[in-house]
Order: sequence, then C-alpha cells, then structure tokens
Amino acid sequence: MSYDTNNIFAKILRGEIPCNKVYENEFALAFHDIAPAAPTHILVIPKGHFVSFSDFVVNAPTPLQQGYFASIEKIAAQQKLSDYRLISNNGAGVGQTVHHFHMHILAGKPMSALLPN
Ligand code: 5GP
Repeated sequence: MSYDTNNIFAKILRGEIPCNKVYENEFALAFHDIAPAAPTHILVIPKGHFVSFSDFVVNAPTPLQQGYFASIEKIAAQQKLSDYRLISNNGAGVGQTVHHFHMHILAGKPMSALLPN
C-alpha cells in the first residue's frame, strides 16, 4: 500500500485537523485517541510517511526509528504510567484503520487478556 497524504493522521501532523496533543518532538507527535478504549489511550505517530509498523522499521532512517520509540517511553514517564500496553495494528486484516504508522499506548485499567473473547 502506498502512503495516502490525505489520511487523518497526516492532516493532524500538518495541523489541518486539531488533536488533543500530549507530546511532540522532532520524531513524533502524540495525542489522545478520539475514541478511547481505556482511561489512558494515546496515539503516537512518527513524523514521516510510513503506512505501518513494517513499513516504518524497514524504511525509516535509524535515527527516526530510535527517536520515535524513545518518545514512547518519554510519554509514558510524562504521563506517570508505570504499567501500560503498546499495540500497533499492522494492516487492515488485523484492524488498522488509519494507514499512517502509529502505536497505541493503553493504560489505566486491568488488562489481563491479550485479545477480547
Ligand atoms: P487503528 O485502528 O488504525 O489501529 O487505530 C486508529 C485509531 O485512530 C483508532 O483508535 C481511532 O479511534 C483513532 N482516530 C481515528 N480518527 C481520529 C481522529 O481524527 N483523531 C483522533 N485523536 N483519533 C482518531
């Protein structure tokens, strides 16, 4: 799949659509999910055109990859999250609906099962 520059997260990155921002640096932008699945539900997107996790780790420059993943830990610390779950849906077949790579940070309630029944 090629990158669609009109996807919703591309528009958020360009400032064309507002978001409830929690963190930003040169590598990543993080904001609250519009439909939270947990008391804390933050989306972390890289600053670049990557459709998925696999696209990002194969094609993003190493400094961007390192900076992006380090940002997730910084966000967790900033939000004072000791326990949290990271999810990335890699492809429409497992639920990816926005095709700009992102990680979900989920926290604030017990999460024993990996997947819902
Ligand atoms: P995916 O299904 O691709 O793994 O995750 C996409 C996430 O983006 C969903 O959890 C959805 O609620 C969230 N989302 C979709 N559109 C918007 C939006 O315009 N703003 C925000 N903040 N989140 C969005």
